[in-house]
Amino acid sequence: MWIGLPGTSPDPADDGELSWQADALCAQTDPEAFFPEKGGSTRDAKKVCGACTVRAQCLEYALENDERFGIWGGMSERERRRLRRRVV
Ligand code: SF4
Repeated sequence: MWIGLPGTSPDPADDGELSWQADALCAQTDPEAFFPEKGGSTRDAKKVCGACTVRAQCLEYALENDERFGIWGGMSERERRRLRRRVV
């Protein structure tokens, strides 16, 4: 699964803002788990995130870019919203 921006791809030689995506563990798993239907389980996606080495960068990216949908950095949209309210 590729969760990055449309038109982008992981390039290990790229040191840019999205370079962490080259190590995204979700790229090797079922994309649907990261975008569950409303009320669907997020457990499988969060389990993958728990073992992902770029989890912190992923979460930071999602927060900075106000990603509304899907699991990013091990957090659901609702959890990210809650976190953002605590931080702001
Ligand atoms: S933390 Fe989760 S959503 Fe983010 S790159 Fe890793 S596996 Fe993918």
